[in-house]
Amino acid sequence: MMRKPKLGQHFLVDQTAQRAIVDALGDISARTVIEIGPGHGAITTILAARCRRLIAIEVDVALAAELRFRMRAESHVEIVEADVLEVDLGALVPAGESADVVGNLPYYITSPILMRLFAAGARGLLARAVVMMQREVADRLSAEPGCREYGLLSATTQIYARVERMFNLPPEAFSPPPEVFSSVLRLEFASRFRELGVDAVGFDTFLRACFAQKRKTLANNLLSAGHGSVRSYTADELREVWPGEVPPLARAESLALETLAALYRALRQSAE
Ligand code: SAM
Repeated sequence: MMRKPKLGQHFLVDQTAQRAIVDALGDISARTVIEIGPGHGAITTILAARCRRLIAIEVDVALAAELRFRMRAESHVEIVEADVLEVDLGALVPAGESADVVGNLPYYITSPILMRLFAAGARGLLARAVVMMQREVADRLSAEPGCREYGLLSATTQIYARVERMFNLPPEAFSPPPEVFSSVLRLEFASRFRELGVDAVGFDTFLRACFAQKRKTLANNLLSAGHGSVRSYTADELREVWPGEVPPLARAESLALETLAALYRALRQSAE
């Protein structure tokens, strides 16, 4: 079969890693599992043997057909031929239940896939995900404030999920080998908006403004906000509520989510 590099087709051939990915989901004997990008089924066959129901979403017509044929005797396995970014994940989850997600992700759309998982997780439709991605992206997801890798993607991820690093894999674990190392992460979806005392839509937007330009201080990013749905703040507004423990020249990248949430709440209150 022709490989389609544009679809991020690097198939996992390391059998220990294939099993370790499924092991990381824990006991799935009573669970519905959604697999993103099953490809030739390296992980799919192991999942199918262990879970109650499996829904695998594959955009490549030929791969979806191959897998549907191979899985034809498995009545609990459904192959959905679709772009994962266009599928309503919620519609796949049985009413009143939550599902788990697994995927050796197509790396070219890692971030948009994650955003969809976070949204479904926040609606209680997903419980956990075990996902493989480029190692540098995994570094960003799991970075702590103050680290070089910490940024908007880290902050957003850590609001929606607890992140656990599982293991790294070299290019040789795949065929054909990608140019990058890969990492497997486990995400336990548990959004922190309530605990942080903020509303989801407003705080997501505020965070985008805080991290808008990496070279700018937090204050300067907020002063020059005001595009799209992000509102801008005046120097007076910021001075009035600026938390004492935050240095005036601090960058958002150095601050804990709790601190940014406190600033957001104070700005909201002063505007009321
Ligand atoms: N799971 C297989 C494995 O581990 O060997 C394949 C992983 S490969 C990195 C990514 C898979 O995602 C490919 O099968 C590719 O065709 C599929 N894919 C790419 N873009 C997709 C999209 N937008 N929606 C669904 N699947 C996609």
